[in-house]
Amino acid sequence: EDELKIAAGAMNLKGKVVQDSMTAIEEVFMLPETATLNSNAIAAIMRAGYTRIPVFKEGNKKDICDVLIVKDLALIDPDDCYTVRMLCNIYKRPIPRMASNTTLFTALQTFKGGDDGHMALVHDAKNGIIGIITLEDVVEEILQEE
Ligand code: ATP
Ligand code: ATP
Repeated sequence: EDELKIAAGAMNLKGKVVQDSMTAIEEVFMLPETATLNSNAIAAIMRAGYTRIPVFKEGNKKDICDVLIVKDLALIDPDDCYTVRMLCNIYKRPIPRMASNTTLFTALQTFKGGDDGHMALVHDAKNGIIGIITLEDVVEEILQEE
C-alpha cells in the first residue's frame, strides 16, 4: 500500500495549493537585516537548525528582502560583527514568491527547474506575505507524512 499512498499523494499535487502546505509566517525563524552576526547570534542561528533564514527590513516582518543561507556564515569571523545586511549584500540570494493559490504541482516544477533555491515566499493579494514553502513541504505531501 506504500506505493498506492505515494501515487495518491503525487496525484493530489494538482488538487492542493501552497497555502495548504506552507509554514505560516508567524512560525518562521527570521532575522532583521540590522542584526549583528556576533558569536551569540551565530549560536542562536545554529540552534534554530534551519538552512534558509528569511531576512526582513527592521520593523516589518512582512517586508522580507532576502534570505540568509547558513553555509554563508562559514567564512564569517564573529569578531568582525558583520550585520545580516552586509552578508546579504555579498551573496545576494534571490527569494522567489508564489501566490497562495499556486498548486503544489506548479511549485514542484518551479523548485525543480529554477536555480533560485528551494524556498519561496507565499503571498496573497489581501494579506501580503503569509508564509514560506519549501521543496521539503511538497515532498512531504507526496509521501503523505503530515
Ligand atoms: P534542509 O533540509 O535543506 O537542510 P531545512 O531543514 O532548514 O533545510 P526544509 O527541509 O526546507 O528546511 O523544510 C523543513 C520544514 O521546515 C518545512 O516545513 C519548512 O516550511 C520549514 N522551514 C524551513 N525554513 C524555516 C525557517 N527559517 N523557519 C521556520 N520553518 C522553516
Ligand atoms: P543542498 O541543496 O541541501 O544545499 P547540496 O547542493 O550540497 O545540498 P544536494 O542538493 O543534496 O547537495 O545534491 C545535489 C547533487 O549534488 C546530487 O546529485 C548529489 O548527489 C550531489 N552531491 C551532494 N554532495 C556532494 C559531494 N560532497 N560531492 C559530490 N556530489 C555531491
